Amino acid sequence: MDREQFRVAAHSAIDEIIDYFDSLPTRRVTPTIQPGYLRPQIPDSPPEEPEDWRTIQADIESKIVPGLTHWQAPNFMAFFPATVSYPSILGELYSAAFTAPAFNWICSPACTELETIVLDWVGKALGLPDCFLSTGETHGGGVIQGTASESIATMMVAARERRLREKALSEGLLEGSQEYEDRIMELRPSLVALASDQAHSSTAKGALIAGTRFRSIPTSLEDNMELTGSALRMALEECEKNNLDPYYITLTFGTTNSCAVDRFQEIKTVLSEKKSWQRIWVHMDAAYAGAALVADEFQPIAKEWSEGVDSFDMNMHKWLLVNFDASCLFVRNRLDLTKALDITPSYLRNPYSELGTVIDYRNWQFSLGRRFRSLKIWFVMRSYGLSGLKAMIRKHIALSDVFTDLVRSRSDLFEIITKPAFCLTVMRVRNPKNSSNTVASLRPKETEHLYALQPDEVSDTLTKSVHEAITTRGEIFITSTVIAGITAIRIVTSNP
Ligand code: PLP
Repeated sequence: MDREQFRVAAHSAIDEIIDYFDSLPTRRVTPTIQPGYLRPQIPDSPPEEPEDWRTIQADIESKIVPGLTHWQAPNFMAFFPATVSYPSILGELYSAAFTAPAFNWICSPACTELETIVLDWVGKALGLPDCFLSTGETHGGGVIQGTASESIATMMVAARERRLREKALSEGLLEGSQEYEDRIMELRPSLVALASDQAHSSTAKGALIAGTRFRSIPTSLEDNMELTGSALRMALEECEKNNLDPYYITLTFGTTNSCAVDRFQEIKTVLSEKKSWQRIWVHMDAAYAGAALVADEFQPIAKEWSEGVDSFDMNMHKWLLVNFDASCLFVRNRLDLTKALDITPSYLRNPYSELGTVIDYRNWQFSLGRRFRSLKIWFVMRSYGLSGLKAMIRKHIALSDVFTDLVRSRSDLFEIITKPAFCLTVMRVRNPKNSSNTVASLRPKETEHLYALQPDEVSDTLTKSVHEAITTRGEIFITSTVIAGITAIRIVTSNP
């Protein structure tokens, strides 16, 4: 493809993308095809001779679109959203054009420098405390990772290394010596990572990758599925009894099941009770709900994290109009991270890195190469402005209020299971014969989450059938889940 062919092809691709977005309200959300639908339509081997763009492009509508689930459709209310916007797509376009695996500053200085600046913008937009900004006193800062899962695994490795280093050094061992290495290997098997039973599965997977144990801490419906200080204390004491060494904990700001928020103040108090607990790495997983922090009314929450949180992560690709992937990870002290991940062979050395005056993001992540992802964040923040992002979040929350009020108005049919939060309503279909219905229908909305619901087979079956009937029709896509043994439907209203 030469420059003129590219010009024509790109215009035509952009036109097709715009038409696709325009068509979304009238499309079925989920596809009707069967598994394996694509193979018979695509040749077994790549073409021997070049094909022209028109032939290639024609396959988008005829072969690819029929197999898409339309995450950007207005009736997509499943999982959490995966937002995208035109400025974000433009960012991807430039990123592809300037492609460079910019692992060191010198590889493409603009790529590194824009990322540092734009993540400071994101941190400020979310009202994060100064300790997470590159300009703060704690040597913190942000880095773009692909996903929240990657961020969690990366933080666990940093936490593991910090814990082991501190222990070995406290025993007077010399870093880098054979005794030091032997001691680190002796200490490793007792390390254990923690999270509530509502934390995303990426924490358990992260422990697998970090090669440590993992324990999940129970939550209850009475506590709205939030991790409490007392549950954490019990888990820590249990670890002590079993000679396990808790080194890391994921706290969730907006769990996947129900958008529960772990009780940070209680947890912070518990972690301050013992010296060994004080150095547990606290990671705040705000993958989805963290986006809400752009709205001023939520920002006092983030201010509480000025002490006691080592890292924070939020996916702009969920609810802030930047397309996948844009997971914004912030650390309080970047040295904790770079000490764990900095391995510098001679071919990666250069005068700028040696001087230590630049950031080399390869030391903030697992892989070496990285994409120019800050462009799309920069374009979105400038195109919408903070006012535009706040307005979007507030509109979605207002829509959610409308929806939950509608559900409450039919309390003869439905029950809300957990406190609705961040545009997520978790509900079930009621068992018409359940005598507790009368009580449930009188629940004041502010305290409905305090009423513990019981698992109920009839309700579970009805809820499953309603969920299935809706998803089979394909006009609306919603997901089901099980919370505290109760089958439930999740409805998310935060899709533009
Ligand atoms: N954490 C939470 C709270 C989530 O809801 C999710 C996914 O929905 C994740 C982590 C994992 O996100 P990712 O796909 O970015 O790894």
